[in-house]
Amino acid sequence: MKIQAAVARAGAIVDIETCELLPPGIGEVQVKLEACGICHTDLLAMGGQLGTPLPAVLGHEGVGVIEALGPGVEEFSVGDRVLMSFGACGHCGACNSAMPAYCDAALGLNFVGRRLDGSAPMLQGRQPLTSHFFAQSSFATHTVASTRNLVKLDSDLPSALIAPLACGVQTGMSAVLNVLDPAVSNRVAVFGCGTVGLAAIMAASIAGCSEIVAVDIKPKRTELALRLGATAQVVSRGDSLADALKTIGPFDGAVDCTGSIPVIETAFRALGRRGQLVCAGVSPPGRNLSISPRELVFSGRTLRGTVEGDADPREFVPQMINYFRAGRLPLDQLVTTYKFCEINQALADLSSGAVIKPVLVM
Ligand SMILES: [Zn+2]
Ligand SMILES: [Zn+2]
Repeated sequence: MKIQAAVARAGAIVDIETCELLPPGIGEVQVKLEACGICHTDLLAMGGQLGTPLPAVLGHEGVGVIEALGPGVEEFSVGDRVLMSFGACGHCGACNSAMPAYCDAALGLNFVGRRLDGSAPMLQGRQPLTSHFFAQSSFATHTVASTRNLVKLDSDLPSALIAPLACGVQTGMSAVLNVLDPAVSNRVAVFGCGTVGLAAIMAASIAGCSEIVAVDIKPKRTELALRLGATAQVVSRGDSLADALKTIGPFDGAVDCTGSIPVIETAFRALGRRGQLVCAGVSPPGRNLSISPRELVFSGRTLRGTVEGDADPREFVPQMINYFRAGRLPLDQLVTTYKFCEINQALADLSSGAVIKPVLVM
């Protein structure tokens, strides 16, 4: 069928173009999109930093309604409302251990944007587009997604607010609740107050952490963090950050959402003995940290990374929805909506930092 999709070619903008969408394959469904969040990962893919072949249809925080089932699909029905998270093969060691973010096929399914057999569901003039990005490619009116990344949604949930649970909010919340373990990390610092960082702060607040320090270069963002549960703010860049943190640290736990090398090094040194730093931000390729193994040993600290906060979306998305329903996840404070045709404005506003979480409404 003919659909409209935002096609990214070389450059910083996309064009909404007519494409051909093939019927869903085995274990897939066709989804009519209601909304899709935009994440920094989409910007990185457009900029060629993730190895995503262009032209590509990006978008990986989709919410929509199933309108057709591929062969073998039994757990979903036509008319089901779904959230689309990230892709995973469903049968490797990581998938079998409820750690789909570390699936053996994660890079191919999510960044390369092709099915495991190399095919793709959207075409233009018989040429396949990269259109299985995060097993969904949701910057489109309709798409084909793998059932493995789907979570069913109740009909009353607002699509534009729920969409960011697919990636950005999931990453930040799960980095705190499932990786950092707030039971032992009572004093927490979060570096970078975009969607991921603010979600980490909301999670730390839900978990009852006694000190939650929000760090960013923009006072508007740390002030929002205070309204979302942070107990203190630090507005500072890498060079003056260490001094600013001396007066309020050390921390039991920290989450880096910036991917900035000087910030990560400073965050690591702001930890107390046996503290843990979780890196959730993506650094530019080819950059390295300078942390001495001697310091690592004598401090007993842990430095680790996380993809999607180690979350299994089918377990964790319903948990986040419970917090949302209980009024503990004010997603309206993060989201700015745009019409689908305003996608380039939305991409520019995310890139410039003018908004925190742009969400397209189809
Ligand atoms: Zn797998
Ligand atoms: Zn994302």
